[in-house]
This record gives sequence, C-alpha cells and structure tokens, in this order.
Amino acid sequence: MHKIDFLSDYDTVALNELASDISDFYFPNSQIDPILIAQKKSITYSFGNYSDAFDGLLECENKKFHIYINIDRLEHAYSERARFTFGHELGHYFIDDHRNSLAKGLSPSHCSFTGFQSRNRAERQADFFSSCLLMPESRFRKYCYKKKFEFRIIQELAKKFGTSISAASLRFCSIGSHPIMVVYAHDNIIKWYWSSNDFPFKYLKYGKDKLPEDTVAGEYFSVGKKFNTTQQVFAMDWFNIWKDSQVEKPFYEHCLMNGKHTLSIIWED
Ligand SMILES: [Zn+2]
Repeated sequence: MHKIDFLSDYDTVALNELASDISDFYFPNSQIDPILIAQKKSITYSFGNYSDAFDGLLECENKKFHIYINIDRLEHAYSERARFTFGHELGHYFIDDHRNSLAKGLSPSHCSFTGFQSRNRAERQADFFSSCLLMPESRFRKYCYKKKFEFRIIQELAKKFGTSISAASLRFCSIGSHPIMVVYAHDNIIKWYWSSNDFPFKYLKYGKDKLPEDTVAGEYFSVGKKFNTTQQVFAMDWFNIWKDSQVEKPFYEHCLMNGKHTLSIIWED
C-alpha cells in the first residue's frame, strides 16, 4: 500500500559501491555466492526451521558473527529468496554502522524480513545492499546494453544473477536500459510499486491502494482471467491521465500470477 519508501541518494550510492566492490573482489566473473563470502569472512551460518519467526538473522557473540537462515519461509538453502536473505544478512555485517552496533551490543540481533517489506531504514539498507551484491551494477548494465526491452530480459537477468523476478525487476527500475514500472498486489490490493525515474507516468489510476480493474492483474482478481504472455494495455487502464492525447497510448503488461499474488511489469514500446 505504499510506494517503496526508498533510501537517500547518499545511501544508494555508498551501498552500491560497497556491495559492488565485494562482488567484484570475490566473484569477478561468476554468479555471486553469498555463502562463500561468509566463509571468507569467517562468519558461520546455519540453515534451519524456525517457523515464522524471521527470514534471516545476524547474531554477534564474543565478537563472532553467525547468520541464521530460516528455510521454513524461504523454500530451501539455495532458493532465490534464501540467497537474497543471505545477502541481506551480509549487509548487516558489511555496513559499518550495523556491524559496530551489533558488536557493541547496542542493538539486538536483527530479525530480518527481507524483500522490501520493511519500513525500517536499516532493513531497507540491507535489502538494497543485497540487490547490489547479487546484481552488480556494471554487469547488470552490460547485459542490458542495446537489447530491446521485453519481459524475457527480466527473466534472463533473474536467471543470470540467481534472484527472483521481483528483485531483478526492481534493480532494472534503477539501472536498467528502458523505463518500466513494477506493481505488486495481494488480493487485489496494491502492496508496493516502483518505477524508473524516466517512466512517463507517476500516478496510478486509483492512487496507491486499489488495483485498476481493466489491467491484466485487475482481471485476474476480478474474473480469474489468466495470461502467461505479455498483453497490450492502454495508458488509461493503469494511470491517472491528464491529457486526452494520452488515453490510448499503448503499453505492455506482463503479469505473473501466483495464488493471491500478482507482479506486473509495465512498459511502453
Ligand atoms: Zn535485516
């Protein structure tokens, strides 16, 4: 129900640089494995079944760091979400403020729920760190360079970097080669959305909460229509329109549907 409340420019620049340096140092030519980074830094870890308590947790005891990953909530140890959560916990280690306050016992161990759900600044920093660590900027940009945008590009990026489609599409919003918008909804309610800076529309048709009915995601919830291909929609279907000339501007929507969740990627040709 909120536009992702992101970070300051200073945060994004500094975190991106910190994470990229680590990725390029340990994995200059291959997919980033956060577990191996932990090993190199002598951080121990365990994958366990901790029901719904947290996705991940970084603990410091006697100056030793330990990462817990909850596979009850993340499928298995090598799932995309487990990798992202592991990267997030590494963020709490590599970001000086987070590590120092943990080491001094000033802050309790972070119980993290990853995936851009948290409004807490430290959690958002760790999420952003993880996306920069797993999808280093220069490689991401290089992959996108001169490719015509279609949904396949997001799928390929997710596969190449070992992340979820939602993580890859959010990264694409900030450093991709074509303006896109990403809208995540649960049970017909918009949970969050985000777009590239140069995306032509900023406001959704009904504001932040209600999914517009004539969209692919909207029809999935209202009449159970399912598509697994990219569909054409019009600007007026999704956005708040100010000029008549924009009403029928064609856009594309590729919507992933899973139970009560939808993720729509929207773009103009
Ligand atoms: Zn956290």
